[in-house]
Amino acid sequence: AALPAYPREVTSAPTQTSATAVVVQRVRERFDTGVTRPLAWRLEQLDRLAALLTENAGEIERALRADLHKSPTETHLTEIGVLLEEIRHTRRHLRRWLAPQRVSVPWQYQPARASLVLEPLGAVLVIAPWNYPVFLLLGPLVGVLAAGNTAVLKPSELAPRTAEVLERLVPRYLDGVAVVTGGPERTTELLEERFDHIVFTGGGRVARIVMTAAARHLTPVTLELGGKSPAWVDATTDLPAAARRIAWGKLVNAGQTCVAPDYLLAPPDVARALEPLLAREIRAMYGADPAASPDYGRIVTTEHAARLDQMVSESVAAGARVVVGGKADVARRYVPPTVLADVTPDSPVMAEEIFGPVLPIVAVPDLDAAIAHIRSGDKPLALYAFTADADVQARLLRETSSGAVGLDVPLVQASMPSLPFGGVGASGTGAYHGEASVRAFSHTKPVVRKPLLPDTLGAIRPPFTAVRRALA
Ligand code: NAD
Repeated sequence: AALPAYPREVTSAPTQTSATAVVVQRVRERFDTGVTRPLAWRLEQLDRLAALLTENAGEIERALRADLHKSPTETHLTEIGVLLEEIRHTRRHLRRWLAPQRVSVPWQYQPARASLVLEPLGAVLVIAPWNYPVFLLLGPLVGVLAAGNTAVLKPSELAPRTAEVLERLVPRYLDGVAVVTGGPERTTELLEERFDHIVFTGGGRVARIVMTAAARHLTPVTLELGGKSPAWVDATTDLPAAARRIAWGKLVNAGQTCVAPDYLLAPPDVARALEPLLAREIRAMYGADPAASPDYGRIVTTEHAARLDQMVSESVAAGARVVVGGKADVARRYVPPTVLADVTPDSPVMAEEIFGPVLPIVAVPDLDAAIAHIRSGDKPLALYAFTADADVQARLLRETSSGAVGLDVPLVQASMPSLPFGGVGASGTGAYHGEASVRAFSHTKPVVRKPLLPDTLGAIRPPFTAVRRALA
């Protein structure tokens, strides 16, 4: 009998080449010319990227003002300034990072030499979110270019002014880098194409889509995700100073920061003591009416503002008490700095990453309860502790897992080019920044050289007479 026919591969049917496919093709062809390999090309691209930022700082600041009401100073500090620092650091060390690294050779194989060589991967796709739309798109690009790759950049459609500015500027300054704008449909098209690496920054839901698409091409991914980053506060710390750092870390970019302290865990007396201290610090930064402050941001969209507003009202209905803030103006995308007390672990505000200017204080009996709570959820991107007790610090380091830890300080771990930045488990896969970027966006290729003479491999080649005798 005739064998049944193989099922037809539907997806391999010839399709018309889409505009997106053409863009990816060009970026890949540019890589294939070999132009990106020399150190000189990479350094020049880094210089050009720095020039893009400094020569267009005003335009970038205006775009971020329109998208997120970011104050130009905050844009300088948290987007342009950190990028320039990342570029400077990478430029300074790149030659050394790229140098082949000699490794030892076991005696059996000598004489021989072995080394590790970093090789560019190829065409890299960078997908960015809207909250730091410049830093999180161009930050990965620093490492992508330093490692000798070409790139397709996909900015977030929810920060449209910034996306438009970058789409215009990037091709004017950089070689081998294309910008593709648009929403999920366009990203879906991009993900059909084969890349050599994908860097995705965003939430866990879309990360699953990206990783599934990458799996079809066996493309490796770096996933920079979020989650609920806790901050432990106890009575051994300087509470007013801790409240100042927490309020600042929470409210930068109106709380839309992946490494912001999401919620506080504290013993009951500390939880109560923090309430007026946090209220005072918020007032010190943004005045009595944060809506009138030039330094207070807005929520990216009315949908997100409505989500936060609903989260607060549902949490209040579930027993939380508003210490400060509370009522949002959804149409104006304004959510005031809000502190919630008497929050229980099953409160709506504890169900998902807040990603806005709402700070719940969760009172727990002791450190054991705090650690148990942290361990019961997904591994967070960051864990913060405000305590002078070295044993407490040691226990938190040992007994919890998180992307990074900040002792007495939030956020700064994310802007130091000397530290790898990334999550663990649900908060991410892989890490970048500085040297970690160059390693993440390169293949580490082992190269072994063994002279043909003297022929020292006789013992591992049949006949095994000598080996057998030695082992007997
Ligand atoms: P998101 O996951 O909604 O979107 C990120 C990107 O994915 C955007 O470019 C978007 O266009 C694209 N996208 C959206 N839907 C898609 C789909 N169906 N298919 C393919 N692509 C799609 O994230 P967001 O709302 O922009 O950002 C918020 C999240 O990002 C938070 O969870 C936050 O913690 C996280 N985050 C993490 C970091 C980090 O560095 N670890 C930094 C900032 C934000």
